Amino acid sequence: MASQLRITIIGAGVAGLVAAYELEQLGHQVEILEGSSRIGGRIYTHRFGSDASAPFVELGAMRIPSHHRNTLSYIHQLGLDHKLETFKTLFSDAAAYHFTDAGFVRLRHAAQVLVEEFRARLAGDGYRDEEILFGTWLTAIGNAIAPANFRDSIFEDISLELLKLVKGIDLTPFLRGDHKDRFDLHGFFAAYPHIRSSSSGRLNRFIDDILNETSPDLLRLAGGMDQLVRALAERIRGPIRCGHEVVGLAVRDHDVLVDIRQGDHIVTKRCDYVLCTIPFSLLRRLRLCGFSEEKLAVIRNVQYWSATKVAFLCAEPFWVRDGIDGGASFIGGRVRQTYYPPVEGDPDRGAVLLASYTMGDDADVIGGMDPSRRHAVVLHEVSRMHPELLAPGMVRDVVSLAWGQHRWSCGGGVTRWGKDAAACEEERALAARPEKRLFFAGEHCSSTTAWMEGAIESAIHAVREITRDEPRTPVAVARHHM
Ligand SMILES: Cc1cc2nc3c(=O)[nH]c(=O)nc-3n(C[C@H](O)[C@H](O)[C@H](O)COP(=O)(O)OP(=O)(O)OC[C@H]3O[C@@H](n4cnc5c(N)ncnc54)[C@H](O)[C@@H]3O)c2cc1C
Repeated sequence: MASQLRITIIGAGVAGLVAAYELEQLGHQVEILEGSSRIGGRIYTHRFGSDASAPFVELGAMRIPSHHRNTLSYIHQLGLDHKLETFKTLFSDAAAYHFTDAGFVRLRHAAQVLVEEFRARLAGDGYRDEEILFGTWLTAIGNAIAPANFRDSIFEDISLELLKLVKGIDLTPFLRGDHKDRFDLHGFFAAYPHIRSSSSGRLNRFIDDILNETSPDLLRLAGGMDQLVRALAERIRGPIRCGHEVVGLAVRDHDVLVDIRQGDHIVTKRCDYVLCTIPFSLLRRLRLCGFSEEKLAVIRNVQYWSATKVAFLCAEPFWVRDGIDGGASFIGGRVRQTYYPPVEGDPDRGAVLLASYTMGDDADVIGGMDPSRRHAVVLHEVSRMHPELLAPGMVRDVVSLAWGQHRWSCGGGVTRWGKDAAACEEERALAARPEKRLFFAGEHCSSTTAWMEGAIESAIHAVREITRDEPRTPVAVARHHM
């Protein structure tokens, strides 16, 4: 290596940590400035207790699609392979509940009423039964995972666009279940990729999301997703300084000035190279100088979706007695999705129910409530499906996190729904583009937004960019002072 660079990384989320780890592997020197008091950012395992056997819930990332190769590669490198287990998701457990016009029905009995709902909304007849089943299950999944402002458009896209595209295709090989009333959407889109690629940008993103979120090939990290960030942090030699909030950035020709809040005053640090992983939802509130107009525009315009999770620590996993073996129910209302994570650790310490997982404007509704009202609303709505929750002593503790309102995120993740492939790539490239010696990473700079995979992909890309033009300012002659 020609010269050792000194790089200041802002943010100790997975993007910042992966970049720090990789830069050190290449022989460079790093320090990380993290505004909050913890590392991990949107990887956030909340533990109901301080010891290893305490029950926990993932308030941020919780599953890994098996094709997310970068994420799995770090899990492998960090020796966490043996902790990978199957993640059971929405629509995977036939005993889970699904909210329909007829009330709550078990998923295994839901087809008939969902088909009736779908047919009632369709204009005109003339569809084969299997086309109806295809449209029915796509709509049901869309309804369960899409935020409110997209739900109607999804039905329109499916009924007006997709049903036409599947005309003439033999759909019978994809029918599933004893009564052949379920539909294997993953198998279908794998067998007919052109259906996806010939559909509109909005529909394409939607199909991508439903395939990821309801995939049978999702994984989890037993013991908590925070093991990934902790293992990375343990391998980083440079300092990770929590409680160092960056409040301003000035790009100059040969360095970057970083304003850091230290108690009640601001300290300016001159840095040779800076890698900024702060979400743009927060970066646009900072004092930014010397940025190009194009960069400021993308920082301002990138769109974020909210996400809110509410979890109950229950005295026991009562859902198991009800025949539910994991996965998730779709409950609708303000709560949307309810997950049943496996019980890990000491069962006497209780079992966690991820009572509500909402996204987009649904997450803003519930996230905008003060926590005590939010918890009461979720308890009320979920107890209509699970009255066991109202038994005295059943709910021992509750925790929630509204990422749209969270000080260190101000959004759950970047959404590019509604944009076509070219517009998505244009936004990604601009978001990731460096400003002189200020580089950028984070899920918002990737093609896989709102996933750990995207954050990691962007970090690897940024490391390549930073180290591309070596040799540059060697540490020996660089001035570096606070
Ligand atoms: C509810 C939810 C569920 C998710 N589920 C999944 C999932 O199942 N699977 C998956 O792969 N992904 C999931 N994701 C997405 C995944 O968690 C993120 O894409 C990824 O963790 C983002 O990493 P990052 O490093 O880009 O950003 P972040 O993790 O947000 O890191 C940015 C860091 O910068 C810090 N920071 C912010 N402002 C400042 C400042 N001014 N000064 C200094 N530091 C600052 C923050 O505190 C934070 O630590 C989920 C996200 C959410 C919110």
